[in-house]
Amino acid sequence: ILDIHALYKSFNGVEVLRNINLSVQPGELVFLIGPSGSGKSTLLRCCNRLEEPSDGAIVVDGINIISPKTDINVMRQRIGMVFQQFNLYPHMTAEENVMLALRRVQAKTKEEAREIAHRELNRMGLSARLTHYPAQLSGGQQQRVAIARALALGPRVMLLDEPTSALDPQLVGEVLQAMREMKAEGMTMVVVSHEMRFAREAADRIAFMHAGQIVETGTPQELLSKGPESLARQFLSQRH
Ligand code: ATP
Ligand code: MG
Repeated sequence: ILDIHALYKSFNGVEVLRNINLSVQPGELVFLIGPSGSGKSTLLRCCNRLEEPSDGAIVVDGINIISPKTDINVMRQRIGMVFQQFNLYPHMTAEENVMLALRRVQAKTKEEAREIAHRELNRMGLSARLTHYPAQLSGGQQQRVAIARALALGPRVMLLDEPTSALDPQLVGEVLQAMREMKAEGMTMVVVSHEMRFAREAADRIAFMHAGQIVETGTPQELLSKGPESLARQFLSQRH
């Protein structure tokens, strides 16, 4: 459903992604793990054209989303993105935040947009928070609004970049639970996370990045049963 082929990205002549190849199947939950600066965020950002790749292809449902011919609005509907910082509009309520993209990108009427927003916010357990402003919500609730906003557009793939890293420890669990539920409903997801316990439990497959390359991939079991020289195993074995 998502095919990344021979992807390269340089910043000012410095290569930060080198020959990335990754194929994600429908319904699969793939974790991207690796040390700081290894290129995880850059890879996700390339998938949403927040960064322009230097070379390669990213194909979603048969459409090369990095072709200059591809309409960015089409692409943004197919690929939902959630960031560490929730990026909600502070002057808009939860429902208005979700409705905005539906109105702008999909040209829904106000009534249609509101109905979809309520449905997605309900799924995220936020039916009692529809008219709250971000400042009136906990970090975990804000992140679930951001997830609802991405899901509302009906994406084929969800990309999540450290969705729990900005949260107080007691709020991490509710966002992990939201990801489990998305997975159970068949959503295809690529998640960058330092929650190794969650990765071991939930990942169908893990790609370990190092210095701009995917250097090891496998199921959690496969990576954990590698020898002690495996960086992926060392990384994945961390307690948290
Ligand atoms: P972390 O775990 O700390 O979030 P990461 O794996 O997400 O790290 P990236 O943010 O993708 O790493 O960064 C990969 C490399 O690209 C780093 O060396 C970083 O300094 C560099 N880089 C990222 N964005 C830019 C930019 N806009 N301009 C120049 N260099 C950048
Ligand atoms: Mg990052």
